[in-house]
Amino acid sequence: MFRALVERYPYAHCELDFETPLQLLVATVLSAQTTDVAVNKVTPALFGRWPDAAALAGADRAEMEAILTPTGFFRAKTESVRRLAADLVERFDGQVPNRLADLVTLHGVGRKTANVVLGDAFGLPGITVDTHVGRLVRRFGWTQETDPVKVEHELAELFPRKDWTPLSHVVIFHGRRTCHARRPACGACPVAQWCPSYGEGETDPATALRLLSYELAPGAVLPDPPPGPLPDWRPRRRAR
Ligand code: SF4
Repeated sequence: MFRALVERYPYAHCELDFETPLQLLVATVLSAQTTDVAVNKVTPALFGRWPDAAALAGADRAEMEAILTPTGFFRAKTESVRRLAADLVERFDGQVPNRLADLVTLHGVGRKTANVVLGDAFGLPGITVDTHVGRLVRRFGWTQETDPVKVEHELAELFPRKDWTPLSHVVIFHGRRTCHARRPACGACPVAQWCPSYGEGETDPATALRLLSYELAPGAVLPDPPPGPLPDWRPRRRAR
């Protein structure tokens, strides 16, 4: 299933724009309850105005809130960014640490955010269990756990460390584009033949194709057909 997902989404990557570990850390905190596209719209102004941890920690609250307004929960996010940056200045000399144990001591940083930073900013193996990964790996039958930390540990047992970061990327891409929470596009799914949850969503291929969705940057055009090979077989509904 992992190989099939890699074939469907060979371009899977972290969809947050960033140039430094600090930028990715802050962007990931801002991505709570909103889309990566929305975060990418505000981060150029944010990092242009306050380019390092010391500047972010000392930022004017009202000014930062105004920039972060489009991401929702802007007051709480402003507070999180300022306190997170202050933690970095006070305890890590303004630098983002590259150890999970250190990252999770920062204000507002849990294992999910820490693993995003480890995997995508430092190139270290990290399994990100966000809402998509949790939902999908249960549908795949890879785990029955609902607690994200337990899910992470079970996935870590199933996959070699070299696959942890790409695994997170392709599963998140699949959750965003095909295996939606409410109406998964089972009829256009590259892992349908192995998925014990096949049939939870739309199985008619033509209808399922129309359910595929892509989070596009402003002005970007949806490829037609969507990128990645589409199934040329009709999966059978699996006996439960
Ligand atoms: S078959 Fe359906 S439920 Fe299973 S992974 Fe594909 S879209 Fe999701």
